[in-house]
Formats: sequence, structure tokens, C-alpha cells
Amino acid sequence: MRVAVVTVGDELLAGETVNTNASWLGERLTARGASVERVVTLPDREGDIARTVNEYRAEYDAVVVTGGLGPTHDDLTMAGVAAAFGVPLERNEEALEWLEAEGGYSNEDLARGTADLPKGARPLHNEVGVAPGCVLGSVYVLPGVPGEMKAMFEAVVDEFEGTVLHVEAVTVAEPESALVERFEAVRDRFDVTVGSYPGENVTVRLRGEDPEEVERALAWLAERSETVEE
Ligand code: ATP
Ligand code: MG
Repeated sequence: MRVAVVTVGDELLAGETVNTNASWLGERLTARGASVERVVTLPDREGDIARTVNEYRAEYDAVVVTGGLGPTHDDLTMAGVAAAFGVPLERNEEALEWLEAEGGYSNEDLARGTADLPKGARPLHNEVGVAPGCVLGSVYVLPGVPGEMKAMFEAVVDEFEGTVLHVEAVTVAEPESALVERFEAVRDRFDVTVGSYPGENVTVRLRGEDPEEVERALAWLAERSETVEE
């Protein structure tokens, strides 16, 4: 399953908030076997959200959107997602009933628009905060607050799946340039992909569907390289 992640917020673009939602979702989705192929950050702007969600829902099997759900003026995600589907925002009775019954809020307590979701969306309840998320087609809309986002994602995690890749890593104390030919040889000989991540040393990650194949590839490479304990 190919997935795109869309994080929304001016504060993310300005570097005021570190985009931990993107890395957390990347890790969780990958662990499920889903293939994350896009992570994009958008400003709090309805048109940008609508355009990107519309493009990505055509291109990917699922789109996960986080941020900008609350009732304040810069929370435009639901409007953007509704526009992407060409449907209006409307009060979602199921979301409202849940907020009243489980959240202990009366309709009057809630800021106007709190339970407004795109028409036809399935609400996702917010166990940690207030603003509900939703699922519309293949688009999952989650809150920006990391604790709220995580709890809501776990409620739909079963809807994301794929082939979980086996990953093995080795640290090599050689310059990356010296490893080019060995990487090529590993890719020729074994059914794995090779990721090379330089730092003080080079971390090499081999990924593949068959754990034994990945281990064989790692052993082959390690035998021929100056490996170090990390
Ligand atoms: P709520 O549902 O509580 O109204 P929200 O969905 O409207 O939240 P935002 O208003 O976008 O979320 O952000 C709420 C908080 O979460 C802010 O402090 C914001 O910086 C933080 N946040 C938003 N997006 C991310 C992200 N991608 N990674 C980490 N923190 C984030
Ligand atoms: Mg925001």
C-alpha cells in the first residue's frame, strides 16, 4: 500500500515546531508494511490543502493529513479536505453525540464548528483532546497535537498494511566513495535494496522481503568491509 503524509501548519514551515508527526507516522506506517512515498508540509491555507489532497488521493492508496483541525481561524484542514472532494462541511451528528456522551461536553460548551466534518465523512473520535478527525474515501484527517494524533492513528492502524520489509544495518569505517562498487555487487547478487547513510562512519541499511536473503547480503558485505561496532 502506497501512502502519502500531509502535515499542515505555518509553524512547521517556519521551523518553530519540529515535524515529529511526519517521522512518527513514517515509522509506524513502515512498520505496518505500508510504503510511505511522500511527506509534504503545507501552510494553513485552504486552497493548498485542497489541491494537494486532491492530487494525492488520486495517486496514492491512502493519504494521512495531520494538523489544523481546531476551531480557530488558522484551522483550515477540514475545509481544504472537503473542497478536495467537492463536498460541504456540515455538522456531524455522530461526532457531536460522542463529544456529548463520552467527552462530557454540551453543544454550547463547544466552540462553533468543532463537530463540522466534510459531508459523508466517517468521524474519528478524539480520546485525548476535543476536535474530531475523520476518514473520507482514502483520506485520513488527524489532529496536529502529537498525543492526539497518535491515539487517533492507533484507532485506524489496521487499515494500513503491506509487506513488512526486513532491515539489517552495518556500520562501515570507510568513505562512501570507496563503497560504491561493493554496493553495486550486493544489489546484483542479492534481492535487497541498499541505503547508505554517511555520518562520522557510513551506516549501511539493507532491506528486503526475505530475512535470510537480507542476512546473507549483510554477511557478504560485512566480510568485505571495515566494519565497526556502533
Ligand atoms: P486541536 O485538535 O487540539 O485543535 P489541531 O489539529 O488544530 O489541534 P494544530 O492547531 O495544527 O492542531 O497544532 C496543535 C499543536 O500541535 C501545535 O502546538 C502544533 O505546533 C503541534 N503540531 C502540529 N503539527 C505538528 C507536527 N506535524 N509535528 C509536531 N507537532 C505538531
Ligand atoms: Mg495549526
